[in-house]
Amino acid sequence: DATIAGIQPDRLAAFAAREAAVYARSRPKAAKAMAAGAGHFLNKVPMHWMADWPMPHLPLVASAKGATLTDIDGVTLDDFCLGDTGSMFGHSPAPVAKAIRAQARHGLTYMLPTETALQAGRLLTDRFGAFQWQIATTATDANRFALRVARAVTGRPKVLVFNGCYHGTVDDTFVSLEDGRTVTSPGLLGQVADLTQTAVCCEFNDLAGVEAALAKGDVAAILTEPVMTNSCMVLPEAGFHDGLRQLSLKYGTLLIMDETHTISSGLGGYTGVHSLRPDIFVVGKCVAGGMPTAVWGLTDETAKRYEEVNANRPSGRSGMGTTLSANPMQFACLVATLDKVMTPANYAHMEKLAARLSHGLAKAIDRHKAPWHVVRVGARVEFICAPGPLHNGAEAAAAHQPQVEAALHTGLLNRGTLIAPFHNMMLVSPATRKRQIDHLIASFDAILSDLFEEA
Ligand code: PMP
Repeated sequence: DATIAGIQPDRLAAFAAREAAVYARSRPKAAKAMAAGAGHFLNKVPMHWMADWPMPHLPLVASAKGATLTDIDGVTLDDFCLGDTGSMFGHSPAPVAKAIRAQARHGLTYMLPTETALQAGRLLTDRFGAFQWQIATTATDANRFALRVARAVTGRPKVLVFNGCYHGTVDDTFVSLEDGRTVTSPGLLGQVADLTQTAVCCEFNDLAGVEAALAKGDVAAILTEPVMTNSCMVLPEAGFHDGLRQLSLKYGTLLIMDETHTISSGLGGYTGVHSLRPDIFVVGKCVAGGMPTAVWGLTDETAKRYEEVNANRPSGRSGMGTTLSANPMQFACLVATLDKVMTPANYAHMEKLAARLSHGLAKAIDRHKAPWHVVRVGARVEFICAPGPLHNGAEAAAAHQPQVEAALHTGLLNRGTLIAPFHNMMLVSPATRKRQIDHLIASFDAILSDLFEEA
């Protein structure tokens, strides 16, 4: 088969060239400003991931509100990227913006709690369950601290992660599977230690593989997302999460659930919706409505073990915490988000429109007989340019079609819609409107006509 994801290569190339030209023509101001002003940044971007977006050059954002974003060239986009989940509840949700204005008059960071902090603690337990909480600033940090606790209380060295996972820039998790063996992930910059000493990698949905790894007795924690969302999305098979819980109990390994993306599932995240029972719960990104904040919580049992270890350790730095974490601005935004934004009514709206989006995309795929599929986890929808369902990280890696995806992303941008880079992920916020969903479906359908239909 000489096609790429079912598309004739020459047709794909012509489409990609046409869309790139349209994009570049429509954003002269951004092109000029970037050429003149980006040179002070390493690699000409403030964060190097930004260089990996697929369009010919970056737009410069002028403003964002709700589920739209406007750039300095005056182009307004329906935003389904939503800061790759940081703004999953919409840009500047009104209660959060109000909380920021109010707190701004009373100081930004003091390394002391506020009354609002106490309220945030109660709300965290209300929303996510009976965990004993800590505040961090990024999900990366929350995962690092959770791992540190797991190693401290078990006295074991390793973390078990799944092939193709992403949990932030936590060094230990950058391992993958090669011919069934754990290896340090290629591409990791400046890695001098052998990560296979402190991590073991298994395939998602492979309970036998997990058991073989745990049986060695050196695994402190399994760190996983409830659904793999960081390559092409992979859903857990029936019984997988039950099996993980049983195995982790059997071998004395802690179970850490990273809900940073699956918070899209509904109230309480995937853990809440599907009654999972992790020992440590982690969520970041959108938990404070876009203010840099993450939380991690321990069950009472895990907290008790932690307190024992902590009470008996020699004096010295614990390796947990960062100076700006648990600041009053984070608490103001946490309370506003948990109380007024992360509501059943908002989740119901997100769920309903995401289902509409997922059905619409699947119908277009069917109509054009594209060998593709769609996956949805609550408010998170992804189209995958390969047949499905996918069962694990190896299949998810093989399903990626970077050339097709880059052309498609640019094509959608030219039709007024931004989706998340690096994969084909779309988020529906409380501010997202039905017409934005229908417009995205129509654009997707029109692009598939260009790519698949005989002229
Ligand atoms: N966990 C998961 C599941 C993620 O997807 C990400 C980021 N994509 C992170 C953690 C890290 O988040 P941050 O970059 O905000 O630290």
